[in-house]
Amino acid sequence: MDAIKSSAKSSVELFERAKKVAPGGVHSPVRSFKGLGRSPVFFLRSEGPYLWSVEGDRYIDFCQSFGPLILGHRDPEVTERVRSQIDLAWTFGACEPYSLELAEWITSRIPSVEKLRFVSSGTEAVMSALRLARAYTQRNKILKFEGCYHGHVDGLLVKAGSGLAGESAASSAGISEGMARETLVVDLNSEAQLEAVFKTHRAEIAVVVIEPLPANYGLLVQRKEFVLKIQELAKRHGALFMVDEVISGFRVGIQGMIQDLGLNPDLVCYGKILGGGFPVGCYGGRKEIMDFVAPLGPVYQAGTLSANPVGMVAGLATLQKMESTQGWAVLNARSSEFCGRLKALLNQHSDLDVTTYASLFWIHTKASEPIRSLNLIPKGQGEIFKSMFLKLLDKGVYLAPNAYEVGFLSLAHTDAVLEETLGKIKGVLI
Ligand SMILES: *Cc1c(COP(=O)(O)O)cnc(C)c1O
Repeated sequence: MDAIKSSAKSSVELFERAKKVAPGGVHSPVRSFKGLGRSPVFFLRSEGPYLWSVEGDRYIDFCQSFGPLILGHRDPEVTERVRSQIDLAWTFGACEPYSLELAEWITSRIPSVEKLRFVSSGTEAVMSALRLARAYTQRNKILKFEGCYHGHVDGLLVKAGSGLAGESAASSAGISEGMARETLVVDLNSEAQLEAVFKTHRAEIAVVVIEPLPANYGLLVQRKEFVLKIQELAKRHGALFMVDEVISGFRVGIQGMIQDLGLNPDLVCYGKILGGGFPVGCYGGRKEIMDFVAPLGPVYQAGTLSANPVGMVAGLATLQKMESTQGWAVLNARSSEFCGRLKALLNQHSDLDVTTYASLFWIHTKASEPIRSLNLIPKGQGEIFKSMFLKLLDKGVYLAPNAYEVGFLSLAHTDAVLEETLGKIKGVLI
């Protein structure tokens, strides 16, 4: 593919302009390349596994918009469905068949999701599901795990406090103390903390929320027994058990981590892949819980652009193609081969290692045991990542620009593309 000659200015000039009109020049913080010692690349175009910058440089993309693009950029079949949808309608704010088709596809494949409601982002899905859980249980407290990300929901921008298990403090300015106090936080991988917090607060907890594959602060693969223990304690004490599958849903397999871990959640949140690269999220779960949502029930939740037809058809086209081509099996096999070779390369030429699950990977310094909680992340991750990121960028490989973000493979990352990538990685290691 020829490099694009753009009429736009260089990335550096564009960033200077952007900083005048947006905080830090960006519309989501990680995009700013903060802490990486250079200004961000501005991209103009994408296709399959590739991005092209405004300068015309080509990059192999392992960020894939932070996960949504499991087929790669602008998959031809998804593009076709989006084009024909635009010829029919963009949005009505009224009933239409497009969301019905996607809702039926999901509910017929994921038994835990009997009914669902579409929204426009993962954050919105989680935020709405928490409101629903509080209404359904008539309780106020939320239990979350340190190192899990659930979008920028006020009540979940909370980290562990310094005192007893469960105590918490806001992790962003602008979160009231009262709000932070309603959220209990415990470490991942700690049955002891989990039991302690239930002992103290069992009758107050409305919902326990977890990323069943924590992938927003490194890749902190959990033991199945730990996640099942969370589910068991929640159910035993009358709290709802909610899995945030915004990143893992439709990524690790058709039924996500619900299948991999054998879970039976009361509520589930999706986003990212669900919209095929357009802004779509949803929350769903047991019928009798979902029927608490307006207009049937007392929990208000609405959206001008909810179930936007373009996002609905892009999402459905993506999922149908994954299903009809056995996409998950193909992608996971290809990823496993790639990550195996990457691991060997890193181990041989550096003190680096890679943690992987399905088509996600995360590079870090070698650790003495599997990294399942924040405190086990080796020191110096920021510096190690910075050096790797900059060298790879120079060679035309784009990783998500942050030490704690994971990498994603897509079906557009062919064997040839992955071979080329391994060559480039070897080049920066030796
Ligand atoms: C990305 C993500 C979110 C937030 O989704 P947005 O669409 O960015 O609001 C929530 N939870 C998890 C697990 C995520 O990975």
